[in-house]
Order: sequence, then structure tokens, then C-alpha cells
Amino acid sequence: MKERYDVIIVGTGVAGLNCALHLPKNKNALVICKQAPDKCDSYLAQGGICRLQSEEDFAPYFEDTMRAGHYENNPAAVECMIRGSVGVIDGLVKLGVDFARNADGTLAATREGGHSGNRICFHADCTGKEITAKLFESVSLLKNVEIVPDTAMLDLVVSEGVCLGVVARCPDGQIRTVFADYTVLACGGIGGIFEKSTNFRLLTGDGVAVCLKHGVAVDNVNYIQIHPTTLYSEKAGRSFLISESVRGEGAVLLDKNFMRFTDELQPRDVVTAEILKQMKKDETPFVWLDMRTVPEEELKTHFPTIVKRCAEEGINVFKECVPVVPAQHYFMGGIRSDLNGRTTMPRLYAVGETCCNGVHGANRLASNSLLESILFAERAATDIAKNYSSADRGEFEKAVRGLDMREYADVAALAEKYKNMLLKAIEEAENVKPRN
Ligand SMILES: Cc1cc2nc3c(=O)[nH]c(=O)nc-3n(C[C@H](O)[C@H](O)[C@H](O)COP(=O)(O)OP(=O)(O)OC[C@H]3O[C@@H](n4cnc5c(N)ncnc54)[C@H](O)[C@@H]3O)c2cc1C
Repeated sequence: MKERYDVIIVGTGVAGLNCALHLPKNKNALVICKQAPDKCDSYLAQGGICRLQSEEDFAPYFEDTMRAGHYENNPAAVECMIRGSVGVIDGLVKLGVDFARNADGTLAATREGGHSGNRICFHADCTGKEITAKLFESVSLLKNVEIVPDTAMLDLVVSEGVCLGVVARCPDGQIRTVFADYTVLACGGIGGIFEKSTNFRLLTGDGVAVCLKHGVAVDNVNYIQIHPTTLYSEKAGRSFLISESVRGEGAVLLDKNFMRFTDELQPRDVVTAEILKQMKKDETPFVWLDMRTVPEEELKTHFPTIVKRCAEEGINVFKECVPVVPAQHYFMGGIRSDLNGRTTMPRLYAVGETCCNGVHGANRLASNSLLESILFAERAATDIAKNYSSADRGEFEKAVRGLDMREYADVAALAEKYKNMLLKAIEEAENVKPRN
């Protein structure tokens, strides 16, 4: 790792990788991630990625996204995402992403809760892995991009309100400062600060925390999505998600007497509320998900990962119901960013789940986040290229001289400090404007 790059990208999920992929080839970029590159939520995405199906689909897709978001979405961001979806999918296909296809060769489309029609492209039940692995392959081939794993961004280097790089803990344990003309935060979600979450535990909202520290604007940090159906387990660790598309294909939710109690295809927050209500009424720690309503062949071909994981827990989904419980899943809030990923701090961008550009409003519509992350990351790369200018090295050195490196020596204490800052911000935001 060098001590100077044109662009530093923090994160190897779809957002960080797609940003790297679209930077001009004459700009060198460092991409860092906390652990191994595949330890990110992008690899976990099961259901799929939305794509506008036709011009007639625009109005219903727009309405579904707004309705799921309680109409708190930024309509311009929603329109930008929907219009950009066809280009995103075409780009992924060109990279070799193998989406499921109909017999006539056209892209197959499935459905999830909150969608009024089938518009989700998928690769079995491991769409995220298929997309992210192909993006990673492509970025790895780029001569202008260096990917350095096991490297944690601990802070931003800021001078006179301008971002000039990062403070990072390197694989050898050394704390180093790295200068860059532009820094892109693509740090993903915040599930790691919650006891039960579908997210990788390492995703602790570090990008949001450093922005809070430096006064970069954040929005809606109390807008946290709970996924209705994760596999109930008494074991510690990451909660295993049972994708909404299982319900989209016909699986139903049952109470303790094996009776249906809700419409399974409502938006996530509504289904979650119904499940929690039912658990309280039944005095049970879970409800049942019955997948036997889905044809066996469909379960085997479309949802092999889910079938396998349930089998590992001793559950035969072809013969018995699966215990499911809601868990933290997605962060709609985050670092305020415009439609080009710009934050309120010059030379600092934020893309993917760590940012809040208004696409999701108060609640994310299923399968909109991979799309959002990929599209706006490309837009950020384009914006950087279009407006490129060099940062002031002297200012960087001045800022580094002002850093108290002792602050970074105890990584666990720093993580605890950032977690508490974030939890406090969430609580304060909830007091000002509770999520409806
Ligand atoms: C189980 C599950 C299923 C999902 N299914 C779907 C789906 O079907 N469709 C859909 O659209 N969305 C889905 N999502 C949501 C979607 O996967 C994520 O919102 C999206 O992948 C986020 O991408 P990202 O690039 O922003 O973050 P991530 O992919 O999470 O990547 C974050 C990166 O940031 C790095 N990082 C974090 N902090 C630091 C730090 N301090 N220093 C260095 N690196 C750091 C991490 O190491 C990682 O590389 C799902 C999410 C989960 C958890």
C-alpha cells in the first residue's frame, strides 16, 4: 500500500467495486476492506436486483418504491434509479453475470413483497454472490486499482473541512495515513451494532460514525429495516435470511396453530409488525414459514441455499415448517449524499448502504438496494472524473501533524466509541422524528 492515491474507496461490496470499475483508467485507486473482500453483505443478497420491465412498468415500479418508503423518498432519486436499472443490468450481463432466463432467452423476473409485478432479476438464491464475484473479478484485472484486504479505515483526514484521505489500520497492525484527492465511503450497513442482524458482524457503520465525528451531514439514521423472516436460532452470530422471494413464490406465514394470519406480500415493515404482534399474542419466540406451498422443484432450483441451510439446522423444508423471526436487516438512513454520491464535505463521497440519497424513504422496497448501490456508485465515479482536481498535499501534511495517533492505538475502544456515537445519533433522530 502506498501513501498516496488519486482515489481511496472504503469497501469491497457492490458499491465500492462498481465505483472502482468506473473510475478513469488514468486515475489510481486504493480499495480497502476490513477483512476478506467477500466478507460483505453484497455476497449475501439472495432475492435479486430490480429492473424496469417496460415503459408501462415505470409508474407501478415508482409507486411501489414510494409506497414502501411511506412517500418519504426523494422522487428524483427514485426516478434516477428506476431509469438507470436497465443500463445496470445490461452492464452486469456484459461482465458475465448469469441471471436466470426464460425459455426464449429473455431475463426471467421474480417478485417480492411490496412489488405489484414481477421485475426482479435473480441467480438462484445467491444473486449477490454472482454479481459481486463478477465485479470483483473485473476490478482485480484493473491495473489502476489496488485492493488491500484486512485494512480498516479508522478515521478521515480532514483539513479546513475538506477530506484529504484516511487513517487506516494496515494488515501488519500499523496505523497509517493515506493521502487522496477523493475518498469514497462504501462501508455498507450497521447490523454489527445490533444483537440480531442478517448483516456481517464486521459492518458496524464506521463510515457514518466518522462522518458524525467530523460534522458531515447524515439523514434518517433511525430508519432501520427489520426483515420479517430470518431463521429462528438460539445460537449467537449472524441471523440467516429466508428471502422474501420464497413468499413471492407462494410460501405462507402461520401462527402457533398453523393458521395464516397476514398477507405475506405486504411491504417488509408491515409484515414484520404483523409477525411481532402474532408472536406476542401466541407467546412464542417465532412464527412458522410454510414452504410446502411452493412446488418442490421450484424450491430446489430457485432456493438451494435456503433449502441446504435449513437442512443443516435439521429442518426438511419439503416436509415441515420453518421457524422464523424478524431481525435487523438494512439501513435506509446514512451519510447524506446527492445523486452523484457527493456528501456535504468536499472531496468526500458516500455510496451504497452507508449513504442516504433518499431512494428508500422510510422503508426499502425489496431488491432495490443492490440496484441503488451499483447505479449511484457508477455515478459517483463519473462525477469524480468529470470534476477532477488535485487536493493540497501541504494541507494533508498539516492535518496529519495535528492528529493524535494515540486515539487509534486501541482498536476495540475506538470501535466501542463509534458504536456509541451511532447509537446516540439513532436515539436522538428517533426523538426528533420517529419512523412512522
Ligand atoms: C442476507 C441479506 C440478503 C440481502 N438480499 C438482498 C437482495 O436480494 N437484493 C437487494 O437488492 N439487496 C439485498 N440485501 C441488501 C444488499 O445486499 C446490501 O444493501 C448491499 O449489498 C450493500 O452493498 P455495499 O457495497 O453498500 O456494502 P457491503 O456489500 O456490505 O460492503 C461493505 C464493505 O465495507 C467494508 N468496510 C466497512 N467498514 C470498513 C472500515 N472501517 N474499513 C474498511 N472497510 C470497511 C467491508 O469490509 C465491506 O467490504 C441483502 C442483505 C443481506 C444482509
